[in-house]
This record gives sequence, C-alpha cells and structure tokens, in this order.
Amino acid sequence: MLNDNKDESNLRLLTPDSLKKIKPAVRAINAYTLLPYRAAIKINQNENPFDMPDEIKQEVRRRLANRAWSRYPDFVPASLLERLAVFSGWKPEGTLAGNGSNELIQATLMVTVGPGTKVLITEPTFTLYRQIVTVLGGEVLSVPLTSNFQFDVKAIRERAINGSADVVILCSPNNPTGCRISNEDLLRLARDFEGLVVVDEAYHEFSEATAAPLLAELANLIVLRTFSKAMAMAGLRVGYLLASAELAREVHKATLPYNLNSFSTAAAEVACERYDLLKPRIELIIRERERLLAAMQSIPGVEPVPSSANFIIAKTAVAPQTLFKDLLARDILVRDVSRYPMLADYFRVSVGSPEENDRFIEALKEVMERA
Ligand code: PMP
Repeated sequence: MLNDNKDESNLRLLTPDSLKKIKPAVRAINAYTLLPYRAAIKINQNENPFDMPDEIKQEVRRRLANRAWSRYPDFVPASLLERLAVFSGWKPEGTLAGNGSNELIQATLMVTVGPGTKVLITEPTFTLYRQIVTVLGGEVLSVPLTSNFQFDVKAIRERAINGSADVVILCSPNNPTGCRISNEDLLRLARDFEGLVVVDEAYHEFSEATAAPLLAELANLIVLRTFSKAMAMAGLRVGYLLASAELAREVHKATLPYNLNSFSTAAAEVACERYDLLKPRIELIIRERERLLAAMQSIPGVEPVPSSANFIIAKTAVAPQTLFKDLLARDILVRDVSRYPMLADYFRVSVGSPEENDRFIEALKEVMERA
C-alpha cells in the first residue's frame, strides 16, 4: 500500500508547517469572496439586467458553427484587438485583451509590483486592487474619499508625489460609490507624476465619459475596461486594456497564452459591431438610475448617494445586515458593503430592469416602514 497511514498524512497536510512557504502577507488576508445567495431579483453584482440581444447571440453562433473546438484560438486575437481599438478610438498596438478585466488588473500589477513597491488607491474601492498588491508584496498607500464620497484630488496628488507612489489606481466611476474623476484632474495628476496611473473604467459607459482621449498625451496612463457590465457579457469573461504600445507590450508578458477562448473572442467582436443594439439599453439603465435615486431619496431613513455608474450606495437607518436579510426574504439580493471603509451604515444596489427597480423600491419602503 502506498499510503498505509492515511490519518497521519492528512494530519501532516493540515499542520501549519505545510503553510510555511506561503508568504505571510498572503496568509494574513482573506480571499476575495462572494456568498452564493440566490434571489429572483439579483441586483448585487452590477451586471446588466438585460441579457445580450438575441441578434448578437445568433451571429456569434453562426460565426462559430464551423470552428473546430479541437484547435487553439489565434495566438494574438488580432481581429478582436482591431475591433476594440476602433471601438475605443485607440490603436491596436496599444490594446490588450484579457480574461475579464480582473486578469488585466492582475497582469498590470504583476509587471509593476514587487516587495516595497508603493501603490496608491483611494478607499473605499474595488477590493481586488489591495488584494493583489498585498499578494505581490507591495505596499498600499490608501487615500480616503472625501466625506461626500468624491475623489480627494488634492490629497491623491500630494500622497502620490510626496509619498513616491509607483502606481496610482483610480476606479472611475468608482465601485462601490459611483464617483468619477474629471479628465482635467486626471491630466494634472498624471502629467506631474512619474509613476503609472491606472484608470479602471469598468463602468464608464454609464458615466458617458472616458479618460481614453488622454492616452495620446499621457505615456504613463493605462485604461482598463470590461465587457461584464454595460456590454452584458459577464459570463463570457472579456476585458481590455488601452495604453501606449510600449506599456501594452510589457503588461502582455504577464497574461497567459490563449487567455481568451474562441467563443468569448467572437462574442466581443460581434458586441462591438452591434453596439447599436446595446446602446439603447445602456441609456435606459442611466435613466433608471436617476429614477431609482429619486425614489430612494423619498424614503425616510434612506440616504442614497448620486452615482455615475449602474449602482447606488445608500445610508440606511436600519442596520445594513438586517436590511440585506429583509430584502432577501422578499427575493431581492442587494450588496451589503458595510465592511468597506467609511460604509458601515451603507448597502449597494445595482440598477435593474424597470420592473425589478419597481419591486426593489416597494420592498425597500416596506422594510423601512416596519423598522
Ligand atoms: N473593475 C471593477 C471596478 C469592477 O467592479 C469589476 C467587477 N466587479 C471588475 C473590474 C472586474 O470585472 P471583470 O473581471 O468581470 O471584467
């Protein structure tokens, strides 16, 4: 018998010794997780409430019908990169595609961060930045948002320059607060700063603004985007990066070969070509966001924060954990963000379809009235 003392070997696997080679900084943090709650109205992950239009799905199926599953995708997804470049008004040599923008956040940090590297983030923000910087042994310089959840541009600038940050990551619009940084502020910051400035534009379509035009003037700017939100493709995992050709070439070294499968590649291409079908839905989500904000403002005990994205945070007089459970009991799933810095009394809700938003508002009124 190979393993005649199973108990003992299991025990050895569980002893702290087996973790000795894991970096202490990694052992000290918790994994990025999301509890698998289910509900009929799922407004917790900032997804597009409308599925991909059928016309786009059919065209993707048609293009893939004769493609052998046994063959690798193209080594460089050249036709997708060209489509993405045209779509974003940038050059294909400065465009990279990734398995979700998460992969490109990771790749960007992998090629820039090592022990001692300083990465400035504003908080509260998307938790993955701090997570990856920590895993890579870097140091996080955290600049809080202002008390009304705006970017503190002066503080960011001072900390970046005086604190000798190597990389600044700005999520604009910011998840989970929805604030954005103007291009004027961004230009001033990036022009006077020697490090790299990464702008995560996962939600830019909902703000109808982008930092992409600044790429032509700023050699230290990296813009990250995703197909998971406005583009209705979260299940297919496509993100992209826009930067100078030189920077894109370096970040590319930390992505995996064939990171995009043939299916997702084709879907992203067709989605760009048929943006005319997606655009009206994005416009509807923006209108619904404003309707949702006004409706939430009218509910006693709820203080929503205006947002440039497809979600809204709100302060609640009821404990966010209780609110979460009460809404879940009504088959509505929102996000409890109370563990984020500054957000102990807040929850986040994604903009759903008009019917979902109506049901959410009704349920929220009910929950607040009973409290
Ligand atoms: N950036 C931000 C700010 C996000 O909120 C998310 C998704 N929650 C991502 C990046 C990652 O998106 P994906 O990997 O699906 O492209």
